[in-house]
Amino acid sequence: MKKEKLECGKSAEKIKAPTHKRKKEGKKKQMTKSKVREKLAKLQEEAMQGLEETKKAKKEKSKETKKKETVVAKDNKPSKKAKNNARRDQNSKVAPRIERDINAKVRVISLGGLNEIGKNITVLECGEDIIVIDCGFAFPDEEMLGVDLVLPDFTYLRDNADKVRAIVLTHGHEDHIGGIPYLLREINAPIYGTLLTLGIIKNKLLEHKLPFDAQLKVVEAGETVKFGKSFAVEFIHVNHSIADACALCVDTPVGKIFHTGDFKLDLTPIDGEVMDITRLGELGKEGIELLLCESTNAERPGYTPSERKVGKSLEYIFSTQSDKRIVIATFSSNVHRVQQIIDTSARHGRKVAITGRSMLNIVGAATELGYMNFPEGVLIDISEIKRYKPEQITIITTGSQGEPMSALYRMAFSDHRDVTLGRNDVVILSSSPIPGNEKLVGRIINELSKNGVTVLHDALVSVHVSGHACQEELKLVQALLKPRYFMPVHGEYRHLNANRQLALEMGMEERDIFISDIGKILELSASGARFVGTVPSGKVLVNGNSVGEVGNIVLRERRHLSQDGLVVVVASIDMQAKLLISGPDIVSRGFVYVREAEGLMDEIKGMAQNSIEDYLDRTRVIDRVALKTKVKEDLSKYLYSKTKRRPMVLPIIMNV
Ligand SMILES: [Zn+2]
Ligand SMILES: [Zn+2]
Repeated sequence: MKKEKLECGKSAEKIKAPTHKRKKEGKKKQMTKSKVREKLAKLQEEAMQGLEETKKAKKEKSKETKKKETVVAKDNKPSKKAKNNARRDQNSKVAPRIERDINAKVRVISLGGLNEIGKNITVLECGEDIIVIDCGFAFPDEEMLGVDLVLPDFTYLRDNADKVRAIVLTHGHEDHIGGIPYLLREINAPIYGTLLTLGIIKNKLLEHKLPFDAQLKVVEAGETVKFGKSFAVEFIHVNHSIADACALCVDTPVGKIFHTGDFKLDLTPIDGEVMDITRLGELGKEGIELLLCESTNAERPGYTPSERKVGKSLEYIFSTQSDKRIVIATFSSNVHRVQQIIDTSARHGRKVAITGRSMLNIVGAATELGYMNFPEGVLIDISEIKRYKPEQITIITTGSQGEPMSALYRMAFSDHRDVTLGRNDVVILSSSPIPGNEKLVGRIINELSKNGVTVLHDALVSVHVSGHACQEELKLVQALLKPRYFMPVHGEYRHLNANRQLALEMGMEERDIFISDIGKILELSASGARFVGTVPSGKVLVNGNSVGEVGNIVLRERRHLSQDGLVVVVASIDMQAKLLISGPDIVSRGFVYVREAEGLMDEIKGMAQNSIEDYLDRTRVIDRVALKTKVKEDLSKYLYSKTKRRPMVLPIIMNV
C-alpha cells in the first residue's frame, strides 16, 4: 500500500509539471500560465494540508465520544463551504466573459453517448475554436468477439486538430475519460479537470506510455477558464458516484450552453458538499441558451436516494454479522462508498484490507490527494489478514460486475492467493449490475452460495444507490436553468426520449427539444437552433494494441468461426501440367471432432479432390483465385447438404 501511495504522490506532482515546461507561450498567455501555476501550487498545498487535517481530525475523533464526532464534523463543514463561496465570489469578479456576436454560429456535435451507453464525448465548435467535453470509451457488446473496448470515431477531431483548444472533463468515470489516452495520440490538447479526475487520468496515461507529457491542468469547482475567442467554461460542483464531479456552463458568442455531466442531487453527501444548485439558479436567471442534460435515470420516477442510505445499510449489516468476515465488492471509483466502508469498519473495530488492481490504484490516488482517509492503524495489507480473526476483518475488493479476472471472481472460484471464502464470510455486492453483466454477477452469487457464503446484494438490502438523477431531480435542473433549447444526452433512445417527455411536462415546446444522434450537428445562432448536417462518427474497436484494425469484416469472420468452425483444404498443383500433385488434405477446427467423423472427413476429401480435378480438366489457363473460389463453393454446398452447417472453408492451393 505504501508503494501505491508513493507512486500516486509522484503522479500528483507531475500534474503540475507540464505547465512549467511550456515556454513558447506569448506574453498574454504567460500571465495566465503563471496564475495557473500559482493556483496549482496552492491546490496541491491545500490537498496535502486537507489530508493532514483530516488525518488529525480522524485521530482525535477516534479518541472522543460519538457525540463529539458530530460536533467535529459540523465544525468542519461551514469553513469548507465558506471557503468555496469566497473562492466563487473571487472568481466571478475576474471570470472571463465572451462577447455576444449576432453573426456567430456554435455547433454542438456528440461523437458518442447518444443512442448508446458509454463513450461520451461532445464537441463544441465556433469559428476557429473547438473544445471537447469528455472522451470516454464503451465496453464491447457480446457480438464484438475479442474486442477489448470501443472508442468514438475521432476523424472529425483529427481533421480539425489545429482548432482544438482543450479537452474539458466533467468527472473521472471510464465512460467520460477512458478514450483520453487514444485521443491524445491524435491531438495533444491540454486537459482540464478537477484534481481527482486528473489524478485518475495521470495513472492511466502512465500505463499507456505516451511519447510526450500530457498537459494536465487542475481546476476547481467555481473556476472559469477561457479557451480561444469563443469559449469560457465554468466548472460547477455536482454530486455523483465519484468525487469531484462537475457540470459545465460554457459561455459562447451565441449564449450559454449548460452540460450537466453525470449528476444527482444528494442533499446529505458524504463530503458535505451539496450540488451547487444556487449557481444553477443564478445561471438560469442570466439565461441559458441550450441545456445538455444526462438521461441515464430519466425513466425512473422520484429522487435518487442519498449515498448515506448505503451507510445506514452497512451499519445494519456490520451489527448483525458481527461474527463473520465481511467482504465488500464495489466500484473502485466510488470514493465516498469506499470511505463509508472504511469508517463503518473502523467503528466496529475491524481492520481493512484492499485487493484488486483498480481498487488499489484509485484508493491510492484518492488517499494521496485527500479525498479519502484511513483512521490510524485500520489499513492492513491483504497478506496480513491471516493474523486476525474473521470478525476483525473487512476486505474491500473489485469485481462487483462479476468480471472474470477480478479479485472477487478469483475468491469465489478459490483462485485468490490470500483469500478463500466459506461459511465464516459475508459477501456484499455494493453495486448494481451494468446492463449485460447480470449473468456474470449471477455466476458469482451462485458459486459463493454453493460454498456456504452469505451473499447480500442490491435486491436483498439497499447496499447500493445510483449516481444519476431521477425524474424529479432532472425536472429541478430544468426548472432552475429554464433553457431556451434542450438536448437530452447520455443514454439510449428510450432514455433520451424519457428526458424529452419530462421537458414537455415542464411546459417546453416540442420544437425546442432536439433528440440528436452521434455525428449530428446542432447549430445555434441568432436565428435559433437547428440540425445542419453530420460529421463522421461511429465505433472504433480496440483489440490489444491495435486500434481500428478490427472492423466489421474481421468481426464477421470471428462470428462465423465461433459459430460454425473452420475447414482447411490444402493441395499442391502443377500449373503447367495441370496436375494435382499432392493432397488435398483436410484440416478442421471447431467443426467436427475428426476422430469420430472419419467417414465425413474422407467424403470431404473426395469432394475436394473432385472439385480440383474438375477445374484442372476444364480450364485452359489456371487461375489460382478462381480455383480457390470453386473449391470453396463446391465444398460449402456439399457440407451444408450433409450437415446443415456452414463452416468457413479455407482452400490453400500451392503451385509446385
Ligand atoms: Zn459517471
Ligand atoms: Zn457517465
